[in-house]
Amino acid sequence: MTGAELFVKALKAEGVRHLFAYPGGQAIDMFNALYGEKDIEVILPRHEQGLVHAADGYARATGKTGVCLVTSGPGATNLVTGIATANYDSVPLVCFTGQVPLGLMGNDAFQEVDIVGITRNICKYAVTVRKRADLGTVIKKAFYIAASGKPGVVVVDIPKNIQQEEGSSSYPEKIEIRGYKPNASVHMGQIKKAADMLNQAKRPVFLIGGGVNIARANDEMKRLAEASGVPVITTVPGKGAIPADHPLYVGNIGIHGSYAANSAVSECDVLFSIGTRFNDRITGRIDTFAKNAKIIHIDIDSASISRNIVVDIPIVADAKRAISALLERVEYKDREDWILHIDEWKKRHPLRMKKTEGIMNPEDIMRAINRNYKNAVITTDVGQNQMWATQFLDLDGGSKLLTSGGLGTMGYGLPAAIGAKLGCPEKEVVVVCGDGGMQMNVQELATAVCYELPMTVCILNNGYLGNVRQWQEMFYNRRYSSTCLRRRKCCDSACSDPNAECPPYVPDFVKLAESYGAKGIRVFKEEDIQAAFDEAKLNSKTPTIIEFIIEREVNVLPIVPVGNPLSDMYLEDPEV
Ligand code: FAD
Repeated sequence: MTGAELFVKALKAEGVRHLFAYPGGQAIDMFNALYGEKDIEVILPRHEQGLVHAADGYARATGKTGVCLVTSGPGATNLVTGIATANYDSVPLVCFTGQVPLGLMGNDAFQEVDIVGITRNICKYAVTVRKRADLGTVIKKAFYIAASGKPGVVVVDIPKNIQQEEGSSSYPEKIEIRGYKPNASVHMGQIKKAADMLNQAKRPVFLIGGGVNIARANDEMKRLAEASGVPVITTVPGKGAIPADHPLYVGNIGIHGSYAANSAVSECDVLFSIGTRFNDRITGRIDTFAKNAKIIHIDIDSASISRNIVVDIPIVADAKRAISALLERVEYKDREDWILHIDEWKKRHPLRMKKTEGIMNPEDIMRAINRNYKNAVITTDVGQNQMWATQFLDLDGGSKLLTSGGLGTMGYGLPAAIGAKLGCPEKEVVVVCGDGGMQMNVQELATAVCYELPMTVCILNNGYLGNVRQWQEMFYNRRYSSTCLRRRKCCDSACSDPNAECPPYVPDFVKLAESYGAKGIRVFKEEDIQAAFDEAKLNSKTPTIIEFIIEREVNVLPIVPVGNPLSDMYLEDPEV
C-alpha cells in the first residue's frame, strides 16, 4: 500500500465523513488516492482559509474532529490564520499538508515552507512524517491529540516521497503517548471543598466559559444552577451554557458584557468559574477583578489555572465530570436578597439599544433571528456584528453559537457556516456578519451554492469597519482612519462625517449573491425584516443573503474602556 492509500485508510478508520481539501502538486498523490472514494465526501472550498474555517465550523457544530488537506507552500500558509483561530478556541482539527520530498527539504524547493516551524506556536502539535513506516502511528496520534484533553489543532506534514512509497497497510487501533496523559479523573477532595465554599456563600455566581460548551455539559450545568440556586454569568464562548431565558441567567461578562453581569462579578463573594481562561476581554483591570470574592476554578488545562487570576480552589478536570460530581454535593440555598439585587441591576440598565422610531437597529435584526430560528446553528463574523449577536441572541437549549473568540478572525462567519451545515444538514444555519468581514471570504458563496447548502446570511452593512470606527469615535477623537468602506479616491483623507453625499457602497451584495447563483435581498426598514426572513426560509437550495442597511455610526454598548475595572463601563455614547 502506498503512503497515500494508507492515509485514506486511516481517515476511514477515524470515521471521517467530510474532508475539507484543496489540491496542489505536493498533495496530488493523496488526492489521487481519494478519487472515487464513496465513504468520504471531499469538499472543495474556494480558498484554503475558507477551507480551514469550514472544518472548524464543522467541528464546533458536530463535536467531531474537523479534517483538512492542502498542498505545501501557499496551500499550507493559507491555513495559518484558521489554525490559530481554531486552536485559540480549543477546536479539534487535524490539518494534513503536502510537503516537498524529504530529499529536497531545506533546499528552498518550489512551494516549500517549513509549516511545522510556522505553526508550532499556534497549534497543539505539529510534525513532519519522516519515515513511511511511521505514517500510520503519526496519523493515529494526531487524531488522539486533537480531540483529547483541551482540544486543539494538530498539523501533519507529509512529504511527497512518503505519500508515494509502498509499505505496511496496517493502521493502529490504539495509541499510547509517553508524556501525554490528559486528566480523566476528578479530585473528590477539591470538589468537596468547592461545594462547601459554594454552599456557605451569600453572594455567589457561576462564571461559565467555553469549556462547558466544549464538554457538552449544558444539561448538567442547568441542573447545577437549579440545584444550587446560584446565578449564572457566561463569557462569549460560554453563551448558551444554560438557556438565555432561564431565570438564573444573568448575561455575558466582559468589555461588552451586561451591566448586571459585570456588577455581579464585581460584588460577588464566591466566583465559581468553570471552563474559562480569564482573558483580558473578561477581566478588565486585573487587580480589581472580583476583588471581594474567593475564586474556584475548574478547567481541563492546568495551564489555564491561576495564569491570569490567582484562584483559591483549583480543580483540573473535565467540566462534564466535575459538574456531575458537584451535583451530588451542592445544596439549594435561598439567597433572595442577592437575586433581587441582580434583578435590580438588570432593570436599572437592561441590555437594550437606543431606539429611534421607524429606524431599524441591529437589536431589531437579532430579535427577528430569535423569533425565526429556533434550535439553529448561528455563526458570526468578528466586530460589532459579533457583539450584537452575543448580546441579543437568545440561545435556547438547542441552538449553538460559533464565533471566533480568542483570535477575533474576520472572515470566519460564512465558511464556518458551510462546515456547520455540512455537519448538521438537519439544522437551520444563520450567519451574522458585517460588510467588512463578509468580503474577506466571500468567495465561499460558490462553495455553499455548489454543495446546495441553504443558509441565511445576514450582512449588517454600515459601510464601516464598525468596531474600530467605534473605538476611533470614543477614544481617538473621531479620527476615522482607514475604517470607511465607502471611501474613494475623491474623498478627503481626514473625513469623519458620513452623510448622504458619500460615494455609493461597493459591492452590490444583492447582485453579488445573484452572480453566485444565491438569492439576494436588501432591507432598509424595520417593517421589512420579517418578509426577508420569510423569503429566505422558502429558499431550500442555496444561501440567501440579506443585506440590512443599518445606521452608519451605531455603537456597541456597554463598553468597558481598556484599563478600567469591569464595574466602570460606558452605558451610553460618551460626548466627544
Ligand atoms: P475559551 O477561550 O474557549 O477557553 C475555554 C477554557 O475552557 C480553556 O481554559 C480550556 O482549557 C477549557 N476547557 C476546554 N475544554 C474543557 C473541558 N472539557 N472541561 C473543562 N474545561 C475545558 N468575551 C467575553 O466574554 N466578553 C466580551 O466582552 C468579549 N468581547 C470581545 C470582543 C471582540 C471584538 C472579540 C473578537 C472577542 C471578544 N470576547 C469577549 C471573546 C474573548 O476574546 C475570549 O474569546 C473569551 O473571553 C474567552 O472565553 P473563555 O475563556 O470562556 O473561552
